[in-house]
Order: sequence, then C-alpha cells, then structure tokens
Amino acid sequence: MPNQKRKATPAAAAAATSEGSSTKRQKLATTKRDEGWLQDLVKQQRSENKELKFNLKRVRFISDTEKLKQGSEGVLYWMSRDQRVQDNWALIHAQQLAVKESLPLHVCLCLVVPKSELSTLRHYSFMLKGLEELKESGDVLPGFVSDRNLGAVVTDFSPLREPLQWLEDIKKRLTKDIPLIQVDAHNIVPCWVASPKLEYSARTIRGKITSLLPEFFTDFPVVEKHPYTATRTAKSIDWDKTLASLHVDRTVGEPEWAKPGAKAGMAMLESFIDARLKLFGTKRNDPNAAALSQLSPWIRFGQISAQRVALQVNHSGKNSNTRQTVASFIEEVVVRRELTDNFCFYNKNYDSIEGAYEWAQKTLRDHAKDKRPYLYTRQQLENAKTYDKLWNAAQCQMVTEGKMHGYLRMYWAKKILEWTSSPEDALSIALYLNDRYELDGQDPNGFVGCMWSICGIHDQGWRERPVFGKIRYMNYKGCARKFDVAQFERNYCPKNL
Ligand SMILES: Cc1cc2nc3c(=O)[nH]c(=O)nc-3n(C[C@H](O)[C@H](O)[C@H](O)COP(=O)(O)OP(=O)(O)OC[C@H]3O[C@@H](n4cnc5c(N)ncnc54)[C@H](O)[C@@H]3O)c2cc1C
Repeated sequence: MPNQKRKATPAAAAAATSEGSSTKRQKLATTKRDEGWLQDLVKQQRSENKELKFNLKRVRFISDTEKLKQGSEGVLYWMSRDQRVQDNWALIHAQQLAVKESLPLHVCLCLVVPKSELSTLRHYSFMLKGLEELKESGDVLPGFVSDRNLGAVVTDFSPLREPLQWLEDIKKRLTKDIPLIQVDAHNIVPCWVASPKLEYSARTIRGKITSLLPEFFTDFPVVEKHPYTATRTAKSIDWDKTLASLHVDRTVGEPEWAKPGAKAGMAMLESFIDARLKLFGTKRNDPNAAALSQLSPWIRFGQISAQRVALQVNHSGKNSNTRQTVASFIEEVVVRRELTDNFCFYNKNYDSIEGAYEWAQKTLRDHAKDKRPYLYTRQQLENAKTYDKLWNAAQCQMVTEGKMHGYLRMYWAKKILEWTSSPEDALSIALYLNDRYELDGQDPNGFVGCMWSICGIHDQGWRERPVFGKIRYMNYKGCARKFDVAQFERNYCPKNL
C-alpha cells in the first residue's frame, strides 16, 4: 500500500508489450494536443477494433442453463457497477448475443437507495447525472424479463455483499430456461481468472495478473447502435424529477470539481495524460501537488473503464522519460485495484476485524487495552475537532470536496485507530466517514484501504508499539518529512476550527 515504496513492476512491462497495434495511433495524439484529442483518438481506436473477439473467460454462468431461451424476443443487459456504454465487456457480450440471434437488446438499471447515512446526494447525483448521458431506462428485473419475453440476462460484476445477494435473488426468481450471465467488466483480468483464492498481498497476485495481461489487456471493440429494435421501447425519464424524489441525505452535496459522466471522465483522463502524469512518479505522495489522476469517482461508478485508462496511459508512455512513471501508475490502477476486488470477493469479512490475518488480529487484541493518547467520538472526528491540524484539514477536504489525497488517506485512517477506544470502533468509524463523504467511497478500494491502515491486510508486521501493536505506524513528523504540511493545513483547515 505505501506507494512511496512501489517500484515499476512486471505488470507494467507486460502491459507495455500487450498493447497491440496502437503505437502508431498514439503518435496521432502526441503531435497535436487540442482539447478533446483523447475522445477523438479513442473513437478511432474503437472503430478499428470492430472485429475484436470477446474472450469468453470474462464470463461466468450464475444459472444452470447456458443457452439463450428459444423463441425469446430480446436480451437484457442488467447494468449495475459498470455504468457506461463503450468499453464495457458486459454490454459488448450482451450485444453480441443479441446480434447473433437477431434480437433486440434492452438495458436496465435498478435504482436502489438503501435507508442509510451513506445514501447521499453526493453519490446519487453523480450516478444519475452519469446515467442521464446514457439515456437508458430501468424496471423491476424478473417481471421485466418475463414481460418482454427476454431470452438471457447479462450483468456486470461486483465482489461486494449486496450486489452478490441481488444476483442470487435474481437467479432464484428467473425461470430456469433463462441464462443469467455475469461478465467482469471492471477488471482487466477477470477476478475469478486472476486467482481462484484469497491472495495474501500485491506480491502474490502481481505475477498472476502480469502473466495474463497479454491475453486480457486488449483494446475494445466499438458498441454500435443496435440493429434490432424492440416493439416496446422504454419510457423517457425525467432525470431532475428522479433525483429530486430520492430519499438521500442532501447535506452531503455535489463537489464542483467532479463532473459526472463518461465524457467528463475521459476529459479528466486527458488532463492527467497532458499535465499530471509527468509528475506522478515523483510527486504522487505530495498532497499539495497536482500529480494524481483524480479518476477514482469515474472508475468507482463505472463511468470510465480502468482498462481504457490503463491503455491510454500506457500508450502515452513510450519514451524513456515517462516509462517509469507509467509503470508506477499501472501498478496502482491494475495490480492494487484488482487486488481489492480479490480481497472482497474471497473474504466474506472484508469489512471487519475478523477479516484480518491472525497475526494482525492477535496484535490488535494484545494492545486493545493500551492507553490512547487522545480519545475522540465519531461526531468529534466527523466535525474535524481533533488537536491535529493536518488530520482536520484532510477531514475537511473530504467533507467539502468529496476527496482526500491517497497519501493522507493512510495517515487519516491510522490516526482513527490511535484515537478511538477499540480497533472495531476505529474500523467502523473510518468506513462510515470514508463511505459517506468520499465520492469514490463504498468501493472495494475503500474497504481494503481502511483494512490495510487499521488491521494490516496485504501488509506485514512492523516493530511493536502501543495501540498499533505490529500494525504499520504513521505520524505527523513522517508527513512533515514528505511534504509541506503547513501549506496543506493553510489550504484546508478552516481558521475557526
Ligand atoms: C484509508 C483509505 C481509504 C481509501 N478509500 C478509497 C475509496 O473509497 N475508493 C477508492 O477508489 N480508493 C480508495 N482508496 C485508495 C486510493 O487512496 C484512491 O484510489 C486514490 O487516492 C484515488 O485517487 P486517484 O484516482 O487520483 O488515484 P491515482 O493515484 O491516480 O490512481 C489511479 C487509480 O488507481 C486505483 N488506485 C490507486 N491507489 C489505489 C490503492 N491504494 N488501492 C487500490 N486501488 C488504487 C484507483 O482506482 C485510482 O483511481 C483508499 C485508500 C486508503 C488508504
């Protein structure tokens, strides 16, 4: 996790060799860089890949039947985690199934708003405004399928508890002759192909992913207008009315910096390649520097594909000055990100102390009664009322802007362990704050980030000290050695705190 320690990895080298014929096309982009160049380049790349084959290893059958129901009148893509049209393996597969049988293709998304402090305007507005760009509609799924006599349901993949439960529920309620097909459209190497088991750390999964990149790190074929139209089409949606009708916490508002939707995601990627990528290698641990991609919200909501991001960044890093930087980025967006899906998919306790390694659980137990230097309640933490100005500044940035710099997230979560009465409380508070305020929250990356910081998953034991035991420790002085802490505090810590 501590990315200051990360080096260029074989994953990046494999990524560099598995990009097919795109180098020539990239030149097109580097000669002239008018705003919007990336959209044009990607459009061209997709259209050149019309015939690209879909790799069936991206699929797993949830139902017993694998054959499309005979005499049906369409195929359904049940969109869930990957909310985009292009660069979406699940939609590509659904469309290919439908075209093969000359059937219409339907797309639906079931909008579920749990009654929870985590259901905020921040998240649902980003989601709905992104969906508005797609102009598709949803319905209640099993009824929708039988009503329209659909012959197959294709859906995307999430390793989290609730979506896996929805999948089980739908499986039970669909008739036995309708295949329920899941496609991993979020990872480059499908989660179940990368590894059949819980991986110990980045070190143990990296080689597995790397060896599979030549097969999976490909371009995407274009999704074109579907040639077969349904007799019954979807009603149009009043998006503003829908958003206004949702029971969400409107006190957690929309951040200005993150415009929802695939186009905005692509524009953010373009600005990263043009302006920030060159700093990623050297400045990515400096929260005062603009060196990160900022892409996590679009990746989290599936508005942009991580595979697309990795492809374009990889294409842009041909010369020796940028190769190392590109390698560091590929390590984050491919290996570290795919490791988090592995963790949540194969560990049912992905959000509790029981999900940690035995050594970590033991060390936390051994130090559970240690005297804490400060004890804060959830409310004090939420309101950034600690003695530590850096922590308060990071917390304020997260509450107001819906983001916190990756380096500070580690410090922030570890301090919660230090300042609360038990590791269980610390984890629950960290996840609550992360998932309520971070625009990219409620994602496997967040569960793993908090679990890494507080209970050492994917990490090793360190020198034993109070409260933390053998869990890796971080402190204010360490941050001060890395970056200008005072500058960050001035920028984000309100004077009246
Ligand atoms: C306590 C804690 C909580 C976190 N919560 C979240 C969260 O809720 N959602 C989230 O997406 N990330 C989370 N992260 C991981 C990481 O900090 C963010 O992904 C990153 O800061 C997002 O900024 P960026 O898009 O500019 O990242 P970049 O550094 O530009 O990286 C590009 C992409 O790579 C992936 N990535 C980067 N770092 C990691 C990592 N450490 N683990 C897995 N994938 C990574 C993300 O998809 C990211 O968008 C958390 C980390 C910690 C320590």
